[in-house]
Amino acid sequence: MSSQVEKGQIRLLSDALVDQIAAGEVVERPASVVKELVENSLDAEARRIRVEVRDGGAALIAVSDDGLGMSPAELPMALQRHATSKLSSAADLTRIVSFGFRGEALPAIASVSRFRIFSRVRGAEYGYEITSEAGEIQSEREAGGPEGTRIEVADLFASVPARRKFLKRPGTEWGHAADWLARLALVRPDIHIETQRDDRKATIWPACSDPRDRIAMILSDDDAAALIEVDHREPGCRVHAFVSTPERTRPNGQGLYLFVNGRPVRDRLLRHALIESYRDLLPRGRFPIGVLFAEVDPDTLDVNVHPAKWEVRFTDPQSIHRTIRHAIRDAMSSRSWLGGIRAPGESAGASAGQPHAGTPRMQATRAASVGTDDWIFARAGDRASHVAETEHTGIPISPTLRDPFASEFSVGEGTPTPPVASFGSLQILGQLRASYLLAESDDGLMVVDQHAAHERILYEGLRKSWFESGVARQGLLTPVTVELSAGAIAALEEAPDLVERLGFELEAFGEGAVLVRAIPAEVAGQDVGELVVELAGALAEVERGDDSEPSATRWLPSLDRLFATMACHSARRFGDRLPAAEQRAILAGLDTIPWAPTCPHGRPVAILLSHEDLELRFRRR
Ligand code: ADP
Ligand code: MG
Repeated sequence: MSSQVEKGQIRLLSDALVDQIAAGEVVERPASVVKELVENSLDAEARRIRVEVRDGGAALIAVSDDGLGMSPAELPMALQRHATSKLSSAADLTRIVSFGFRGEALPAIASVSRFRIFSRVRGAEYGYEITSEAGEIQSEREAGGPEGTRIEVADLFASVPARRKFLKRPGTEWGHAADWLARLALVRPDIHIETQRDDRKATIWPACSDPRDRIAMILSDDDAAALIEVDHREPGCRVHAFVSTPERTRPNGQGLYLFVNGRPVRDRLLRHALIESYRDLLPRGRFPIGVLFAEVDPDTLDVNVHPAKWEVRFTDPQSIHRTIRHAIRDAMSSRSWLGGIRAPGESAGASAGQPHAGTPRMQATRAASVGTDDWIFARAGDRASHVAETEHTGIPISPTLRDPFASEFSVGEGTPTPPVASFGSLQILGQLRASYLLAESDDGLMVVDQHAAHERILYEGLRKSWFESGVARQGLLTPVTVELSAGAIAALEEAPDLVERLGFELEAFGEGAVLVRAIPAEVAGQDVGELVVELAGALAEVERGDDSEPSATRWLPSLDRLFATMACHSARRFGDRLPAAEQRAILAGLDTIPWAPTCPHGRPVAILLSHEDLELRFRRR
């Protein structure tokens, strides 16, 4: 092959090759094709768009629209590189209002697939069709069909085996495509969008005028109803957003949808600004849900910094960061969201049929604890705040005594031995402020943080049973329907074995929901919707892990977090009055957990006020 081409000789690349190289940037995976085609439809003023995806997009991606269409003369142009109807001079580059402008998507996509495009201009008598294979035109002819444009992309990357090899499983690829569709749908609620995946029932998002209605279709009714609307304008900038209250959190950033001037982006700056707005309001490791539309003067924005256009550059990044933070903070402080928003458990969908009477009380205490750092496996640095809490109890603790207290008996901080031989056999004295268990030991007064202790026991229990035979399930009296994003559903469908091993029994329920039949027995009583969202979040996270690692290792970091969250939500809270039997059960449970430093985090579970300390303080020594 290369024998005819001498090294070092500079030549112009063939058009086909240039397209394939461009395809490397524009067409990363099926989701990029979906994105480019749907954006073209939106640019063509379509009102209705239909998307079909087969085999995760590897077999077929088809997008049909009722937009302006292209004439028989224009159609071949659309397949030429740098052919675009959207830009004619360099000056236009600073005022881009369309999604596309580079004119390279169609030729790039066609160069790596079997491609068919049909288009009929509105009002024209008939349309025109072109087919191509790996960028080579196969046929061109007049053809009949509806007004608008239909593009079919079959056998993506068949001609580029190196790329085809990198395609992930169909469910994963579909998840990425669905994610982009969701983003485009969020920014254009006025467009009717239908999606057909393989032979399933199509998902239909009817056009609507209220963005909140579209959010409800894509996230869930519950999420949409609970989000706070932020609308802030100042010269040169508008921030319009729907963001969660601090009670409604996610285990990862997948509930963040960001847009700049009507364009979906994955911009670090916006993401950071949104998350920063929740600083001090969310427990460590938790993320808000947010749909954020930023609008800035086009002169202050460069959208041409990435071939797929999902990164942007602002001329004054600090100012946009500040504006977003202030807008969100203001909206949250002006709204008495603590009282005004219904508690998560009151909502009809996710928690209907939950067989637990104790739930409302649990939720009330949960709301009251918003804003405090409730993240039990917080890092060592958080010990300071815990010590401060101890101070509020009014017991003066000398600085020298603080640290040994805090570190000696905290799980996972270096001491592999428990503070007493057996918690279960201690004499229980009672409960302090419905928050601490007090017990007498040979060495002094044992003070146990009831929430931390219970959480730790649940966490270790979940972890252990996952490693051993799988987490025990408890069937729900009434199965619960939980609405989820397509990406979340894909994550669950991808790993049925893990879902089962984690103690869940789920069933597909239409396109946008799952039916929950059982949840882990140890966390029975917890909000089922929340649990499943957590589960999907954790599984989606692992998806991005390194495939070459053995699965146990690969799963662990995400599952650990899931176990921690489940444990945290299910554990008895501060302020819960516990019957004596339960107090005993918690203390006995402490005897079953490993005190070795298995987990790098941890704040104290138990503190011993030794006889010596007491004597010192009472000046008996
Ligand atoms: P760009 O969107 O950057 O202009 P593309 O390669 O995506 O480049 O598309 C090239 C041109 O083809 C567009 O500028 C537009 O004129 C035309 N086109 C593509 N898709 C459609 C469609 N669905 N309806 C009408 N015109 C389209
Ligand atoms: Mg385009």
